[in-house]
Amino acid sequence: MPGFELFGDLERKEVNDVLDNGVLMRYGFDAMRKGHWKAKELEAELEKTFQSKHVQLVSSGTAAVSVALASAGVGAGDEVIMPTFTFVASFEAIMILGAIPILVDIDDTLTLDPKALEHAITPKTKAVMVVQMCGSMANMNALRSVCDKHHLILVEDACQAIGGTYNDKPLGSLGDLGCFSFDFVKTITCGEGGAVVTNNKAYYVNADHYSDHGHDHVGNDRGAETHPFLGYNFRISELNAAVGLAQVKRLPEFLAIQKKHYSIIRETLSKIPEIRFRTVPEGGEESYAFLNFFLPNADIASEVSKAFKTNGIDVCWNYYNNNWHYVRKWHHLKEAKSLYPLSNDIKDELNLLKHKDFSQSDHYISRNISCLIKMSWTEDEVLTRANTMATIIRSLV
Ligand SMILES: *Cc1c(COP(=O)(O)O)cnc(C)c1O
Repeated sequence: MPGFELFGDLERKEVNDVLDNGVLMRYGFDAMRKGHWKAKELEAELEKTFQSKHVQLVSSGTAAVSVALASAGVGAGDEVIMPTFTFVASFEAIMILGAIPILVDIDDTLTLDPKALEHAITPKTKAVMVVQMCGSMANMNALRSVCDKHHLILVEDACQAIGGTYNDKPLGSLGDLGCFSFDFVKTITCGEGGAVVTNNKAYYVNADHYSDHGHDHVGNDRGAETHPFLGYNFRISELNAAVGLAQVKRLPEFLAIQKKHYSIIRETLSKIPEIRFRTVPEGGEESYAFLNFFLPNADIASEVSKAFKTNGIDVCWNYYNNNWHYVRKWHHLKEAKSLYPLSNDIKDELNLLKHKDFSQSDHYISRNISCLIKMSWTEDEVLTRANTMATIIRSLV
């Protein structure tokens, strides 16, 4: 997955453009910048890549989720439904707005289960956040129909699924708003950066203003801009955007390498009858940033995961005991360890979270192995890796 594996001349050229004129700020300074608008250019590229009318770049993927929710009017007291398996950014981005994260089971897609979603809806539910984890997706038709039925905003976190599609549409373009991360380990990297994508003009204008202190971006005099509403600084810099601009142009090349490496490993592992691959919903195509499979039970998965590590198979994880990505070990969340006071409605929900039954999620996550697909491997390395993985699994199932 990580785009940094393949840095080259294009990245250097784009960054040097910015350093040559010295304008590291994405807005204003028109006379100094000699026609270089890296953030604007990257937004235009991403509109094409993600087939969306509007793209607002921001400082991170986490910022993108907060900006997306804020732009759709989600705030204090609103419930936002999110999956048990994601990155900690999901609940951080919800809680910073004063909204309440409601955690819901995943299914064998490793993403939000539409049935569990429907059970969690209350009169306070305002939005649903689907997280397209590890390069694949939820059953988006099912989620969309639940959201439409209950008049909920669908926010799609596609940070880990850049380049995947559903019914030929790019992941991230299917929700009312989509969010991407271009942090250091994502398929396209800016160092740090993120994007909100939407076809909704009003949401886009909100995102544009909100991510830059509420400035209205009208006219050419920055100092004369007014503030239709309160904002914050979630801006990306020109330097970060320049790296992303080089990377996005190389996305087709990145995706082709990922698919090739993924396919070699998958074909080797598919000869082992005890392995079941993650379910990809009908009409979906993965980004091939990860290969995910299930082993017959939690003990075997744990043994395989350990044996992978001791035999040099890196970048493969069993997330059951992982405290970055899975609810079981999010102790700081369940214990509401906040530096500043949280609202009572958030505290009440976090308290309930300590005892919620997520046995369905446990069932899938405990048996799952998720392997990152690197682009810098040689074909020989991929073949050797695939064979080593198969040998280890065969010896333990
Ligand atoms: C990386 C990631 C984020 C956060 O992105 P940052 O740019 O690191 O803030 C959010 N959600 C998911 C699923 C991610 O993988």
